[in-house]
Amino acid sequence: MTKTYQTGHPIWCAGCGHFGVQGAIQHAMQEAGVKLHEALVLAGIGCSGTVQNNVGAYGYHSMHGRVLPTAIGASLANPDITVIAAGGDGDGYAIGAGHLLHGLKRNANVLYVIMNNGVYGLTKGQDSPTKEIPDAAPEEEPLDSMMLGLSIQTTTFLARGITTRSEQLNELMLHGLEHVRAGKGMAFVEVLSPCVTYNDTYPQWMNKVYDVDADPDYCNHHRGKAFASLYDLVQQDRIPIGMIFLGTHASLQSSLVKEITPFHALDDQYSGRVGAHLEKVLSSYAV
Ligand code: SF4
Repeated sequence: MTKTYQTGHPIWCAGCGHFGVQGAIQHAMQEAGVKLHEALVLAGIGCSGTVQNNVGAYGYHSMHGRVLPTAIGASLANPDITVIAAGGDGDGYAIGAGHLLHGLKRNANVLYVIMNNGVYGLTKGQDSPTKEIPDAAPEEEPLDSMMLGLSIQTTTFLARGITTRSEQLNELMLHGLEHVRAGKGMAFVEVLSPCVTYNDTYPQWMNKVYDVDADPDYCNHHRGKAFASLYDLVQQDRIPIGMIFLGTHASLQSSLVKEITPFHALDDQYSGRVGAHLEKVLSSYAV
């Protein structure tokens, strides 16, 4: 049975940063010439997770914290599609943190976008791993995903944008998408995307961001130098944004998948049982 679904409309609060993130993803797809039927957008659980309803590409709403392994599986199964995974800081840095580490380590051809707002908006405002809590006892520092990414030797693309700087965000997103489509591995883009309802960080973050793209002394091709610069900036209570790191390392696809067996060949090999089983699973989801 074939069913056609309509593209949804965002259901976010007025002023939510996620509108800007969705716009940047759509802008990148358009600029890179990615047709909707050639892309799969997967999302995790959280306010950000509804983005996959709004883009019009193939979509999948994964289990909480599992968007990255699901996206990597999809990109391995069908190298012809462009795979974009998206989620929030709770999904990616809390329940999904283990998958983030291994995703960064494996360097699969997936664009992973985390919308960081320092809070769990969907469940009404609990602190996330990136929440700044200056008066906490004992003191806790917010997790810095870019420093985390730099500490993993096989990362190839690390960038951070903020929704208030849409031009730069669009460029970073497009660059990330092109990195993935060129088979260079995973592009990890964190977007500072404030939650106006439960943690309105617009004024604070706009003052704290430091654009490394505008700093001629910043070196985004040297992991050690980039890490040292980020460490200094974070110590100064700044939030580095821009193209944080660009490196080279074999993608998971190039090192693992030597030859992809097309689906029809798999079906022939197993005397039609693969297709029949898939049909059965799909029909169980039919409404
Ligand atoms: Fe956005 Fe926060 Fe509203 Fe969720 S609760 S839609 S994150 S502003």
